[in-house]
Amino acid sequence: MPFKTYHSPFPDINIKSLDLISYLFSNPLNTPLDRPLYIDAVSGKQYTFGDVVQRTKSLSNGLRQNFGLKGDDVVAVFSPNTIDYPIVAYSIIGSGAIVSPTSAVLTASELNAQLKTSKARFIIAHSSLLQTAQKAMKGTSVEKIIILDGSFPVNGQPTCDHMASTFSAAPLFAVSPADATEKIAFICFSSGTSGPAKGVITTHQNITSNMQQWRLMTEAGKPDEGAQRQAMIAFLPLSHIYGLFLYMCHSLLWGTSVVVMARFDLDLYLGCIEKYRPDDLALVPPVALMIVKDERTSKYDLRSVKRIMSAAAPLSNELSSALEAKFKNLHQTEVFCTQCWGLTETSPLATGIPNNRMDKRDTGVGCIAPNMVFRLVDPETMNDAAVNPDGSTQSGEFWCRGPNVTRGYYNNEDATKGAFHIDSDGSRWFRTGDIGTIDKEGYVAIHDRIKEMIKYKGLQVIPSELEGKLIDHPDIEDAAVVGQWVDEMATELPVGFVVLRQQAKEKDAKTVIDDIHSWLNPKIANHKRFRGGIHVVDQIPKSPSGKILRRQLKEMLKSKKSRP
Ligand code: AMP
Repeated sequence: MPFKTYHSPFPDINIKSLDLISYLFSNPLNTPLDRPLYIDAVSGKQYTFGDVVQRTKSLSNGLRQNFGLKGDDVVAVFSPNTIDYPIVAYSIIGSGAIVSPTSAVLTASELNAQLKTSKARFIIAHSSLLQTAQKAMKGTSVEKIIILDGSFPVNGQPTCDHMASTFSAAPLFAVSPADATEKIAFICFSSGTSGPAKGVITTHQNITSNMQQWRLMTEAGKPDEGAQRQAMIAFLPLSHIYGLFLYMCHSLLWGTSVVVMARFDLDLYLGCIEKYRPDDLALVPPVALMIVKDERTSKYDLRSVKRIMSAAAPLSNELSSALEAKFKNLHQTEVFCTQCWGLTETSPLATGIPNNRMDKRDTGVGCIAPNMVFRLVDPETMNDAAVNPDGSTQSGEFWCRGPNVTRGYYNNEDATKGAFHIDSDGSRWFRTGDIGTIDKEGYVAIHDRIKEMIKYKGLQVIPSELEGKLIDHPDIEDAAVVGQWVDEMATELPVGFVVLRQQAKEKDAKTVIDDIHSWLNPKIANHKRFRGGIHVVDQIPKSPSGKILRRQLKEMLKSKKSRP
């Protein structure tokens, strides 16, 4: 039976087959070489576009000569945001190798699991994370840790900063257009719809396609080159596809000055907006809420801001309007607040509000990107979601395909198989696990998530990973983890459910729970902590096949909340 597909309101564009290095380093938009590209938000130290090109070529040469880095090696980059991070990533890719960005907040055991999946040969680590990297490399294929920062060699071994300053610039390795669709550029980690963290394959073509798709949407109606070239204030982690795409790829294409923050700090953020005067802010809902609520906002001149884009988690219409009203009250300026939606697996942007359709900004997360095709499927029946008489749809799960969609998970055939649906005509659809609707113009709204993933302040928390840890505790017989939506500040909090062993049932429940928190917290990254609490239950609801019935647990939380 034919199935219904949804397309972008934009006609498909002729997407060029391009590798990242040729695309960005050919300077297609003629960025002046003396334009500041990466600026440290605290010290003001900066690299111009010319510096970035020279340092990338020198570091790539240094990595090849000193460490024998070669094509298809995987290099894990373990660092907070710094102005050297993009140069390190481009040097690895410019040596023909693959970058696996790992979150700087991981514990040694969490990093160890990612290294085993990516089979990384090297870790390039920030000196502040060296001890964690050393513990994490045990039992993995990592041969050496290379220190990212510091202008002098450490114990005789050169750092990336040192090599970028001292080696001669050598040509970068460019993938042929024919190979750009196959050659991997990045392996970022995501849980996908279920199970543990998996390495998402992002090819050169995936990411250069998304840059071309995004460029069309942001230029729509009025080519806005001036705005694109303004500054960006970079607080989202470069290890997440959202930060990686905007601050490393999009910025280098446009010559946008990126003001790099190692971690979020409201005063520093607002001070950078005042100083560097960006037109556009890219943020996540908790930061939007802070700007609306925090008194400190009124101390800064934010008049440069014309557009705000939120992504990574849901932003309500109320918060979006409050943000626009805040700017009107503060400075009598008109600011448009919009949302995008995407996933690590879509490299990352799948929908957004085009520049010429600000009137659609309160309908959801924007229209389908050009060259993408969506299906909307009722997850119960696996049939197309019904279409209403006015052309809008009923709810369904978004399935998608397009040049920006991953081909699968690295070294994980089973997970790749489970993430895609092959239709009777052979078309291969990525199942996003997000639920929503499409209106008659092709504009998308996201209402819910059927996948297990929890998003605390835009960062992924993976239930199965926490469940695995919990059942290692001597007092715990069985465990389940779900997310509980609170509001846009707290976002979704991880909540644990545990069945206690007999010996623990005899103890005071509060003492047992406190003990579980203090035992678990040092083992997990800070954003994964059970901020929503841990509840003791008699049993974990499961299907006959043993699958945890997370919906039931979520319902239980709702009824607990509504009780007086
Ligand atoms: P990640 O791979 O970490 O980027 O996470 C992707 C997931 O984040 C999506 O599948 C959604 O569940 C969620 N997400 C991203 N953007 C939005 C948005 N604008 N509204 C609601 N959820 C979002």
